[in-house]
Amino acid sequence: RSKRRGRGQITVYSKEIAQEMKRATQLEQALRNAIISDAIDVHFQPIVSLASGAVLGFEALARWNDADLGFVSPAVFVPLAEERGFIDALSETLLRKAAEAALSWPRELFLSFNLSSAQLMDPGTSSSILAILGRVGLDPHRLELEITETAVMSSAETANRIIADLRGAGVRISLDDFGTGQSSLGRLREFIFDKVKIDRAFVSRINSDRASEHIVKAVLAMCEGLDLEVVAEGIEDHAEAAKLKSLGCAMGQGYYYGKPVDSTATLRYLHGN
Ligand code: C2E
Ligand code: MG
Ligand code: MG
Ligand code: MG
Repeated sequence: RSKRRGRGQITVYSKEIAQEMKRATQLEQALRNAIISDAIDVHFQPIVSLASGAVLGFEALARWNDADLGFVSPAVFVPLAEERGFIDALSETLLRKAAEAALSWPRELFLSFNLSSAQLMDPGTSSSILAILGRVGLDPHRLELEITETAVMSSAETANRIIADLRGAGVRISLDDFGTGQSSLGRLREFIFDKVKIDRAFVSRINSDRASEHIVKAVLAMCEGLDLEVVAEGIEDHAEAAKLKSLGCAMGQGYYYGKPVDSTATLRYLHGN
């Protein structure tokens, strides 16, 4: 009996695994098709001056709304694209679209674009990015690339080369999700970053948790000393914005200032209607 029950459990278990594998294959196939048919779009979220509220630039965020699967988060499909070797094709299309959109913005606004860790392991990344900017006609000085600590650590030598080449061409580099990575302060010593983005995890607790407030204060002081710009991510209400401003944080981003929207709505936002 127990043997039979045991076998039964194994059957149920493997059915679940089979279902999960089927879903993964479906997702992978759908992603492949979406990339081929150019179905993945790019949206833009404003990054503002906390002092004046003025827009300084936009972060490009990938958006995929599949006919069958519905909305799929980039937190799901970007890692899948990396794993399956689609990230170059995906990222090139997204950067081209984002750069084209940025051409219709006022010239002083920057475009911030996320680089994945796989791209920082590929020595061809810098020339491919600069080639896209050249073809579109976007000045490299208007581009910022957001990377995470984990991405730099995973292939330090190649990553440093790519970053140096891009910075040499005028592209600026932001350290994304600061405070959540593995290492932290060591990388800042190497002066490969222009800007630090404080992770939403600290911002959302800034008025309820003294520790988060102290961490943000320390990050702001450190960035000032190291001559790094700072953006607070994920600001959702007035109280968070006011606290960050009072602590001397120069820039902010979050739903309070604007959710990510498509290029048409971005132009409307810029023209104030
Ligand atoms: P990220 O680069 O840290 O982007 C910020 C994420 O926070 C975005 O999620 C954004 O929509 C969300 N966010 C912004 N303001 C708020 C807020 O006030 N409250 C809350 N709760 N969330 C806020 P999203 O668009 O889902 O992107 C998730 C992650 O996927 C990004 O995190 C980035 O790591 C990655 N990603 C998105 N687009 C791309 C892309 O084109 N290329 C690459 N390589 N990665 C991308
Ligand atoms: Mg980002
Ligand atoms: Mg972030
Ligand atoms: Mg993130």
